[in-house]
Amino acid sequence: MSHSIPLAAVIGYPVAHSKSPRLHGHWLARYGIAGHYVPLSIAPQDFSQALAQLPRMGFVGANVTIPHKETALALADRVSPLADRIGAANTLVFTPDGIEADNTDAYGFTQNIRATLPDWAPNRVALIGAGGASRAVIVALQDAGAQEIRLTNRTQDRAADLAADFGPSVVPVPWSQRASMLDGCDTLVNATALGMTGQPPLDLDLTALPLSAVVNDLVYAPLETPLLAAARSRGNLGVDGLGMLLHQAAPGFERWFGTRPTVDDDLRRAVLA
Ligand code: NAP
Repeated sequence: MSHSIPLAAVIGYPVAHSKSPRLHGHWLARYGIAGHYVPLSIAPQDFSQALAQLPRMGFVGANVTIPHKETALALADRVSPLADRIGAANTLVFTPDGIEADNTDAYGFTQNIRATLPDWAPNRVALIGAGGASRAVIVALQDAGAQEIRLTNRTQDRAADLAADFGPSVVPVPWSQRASMLDGCDTLVNATALGMTGQPPLDLDLTALPLSAVVNDLVYAPLETPLLAAARSRGNLGVDGLGMLLHQAAPGFERWFGTRPTVDDDLRRAVLA
């Protein structure tokens, strides 16, 4: 039995921008847990060797981010059903029997919206963007009961690929029709990088979107993106992206450090500071 101080990490390349060390550090301090969470910058060619060594160095698990999410899934000894469906891992647990891979992004997405709108039950959804984040959002939307997910992406082929992967509830829509596809939708999600600091805003006319629809931006820097500002000013409920980041972190923290942490305003402030 080991009595060493548990270590966890976020592994990325690059990883300097990650807010996860601050997030987990806040929880470790809040719950008085003797443990450490560190950023590890590991190049793709070194990833598999690093993963084999970390458990022997006192690490109990890790988050993985770009560009390691798919490789981590492939290297794991056991894969959760959600990670398997999404096709990527973001949370690894090192056990005596090997590496367990999970994906908590879909959970984080749903929890974030339900923190504002507890009864959120998507039916017809407009989803902008077909990158890695979009895959987790689609799985979350399907599990929350969405019947129709209208998916548009600048590069149309990527939207068609996701529709092929995730079945007929995902309907690819040409980028040129992104404004008209909002008609009749109860939920609008931006899963592109547009609107992020340093990026152009998402160019989207909201006229066709029902005022009862909730608008969620995955971008959280800035918190109030041009899309959220436009949605709120016409009367839609807006949900920013920070809560997804915070909620996706909770299951990993619990697995590694033994305490289920709470997502609250204190944590939001700590992560934004
Ligand atoms: P990704 O795999 O690189 O995908 C990027 C997406 O943005 C693609 O759909 C891409 O379209 C689109 N895009 C980029 N520049 C564009 C432009 N100039 N015009 C039109 N579309 C453009 O990235 P990702 O991992 O899916 O992440 C997407 C966003 O979600 C990022 O802003 C990320 O920070 C955010 N995110 C937030 C959370 C959270 O916890 N809140 C979690 C994950 C991701 P093409 O396919 O045409 O290139």
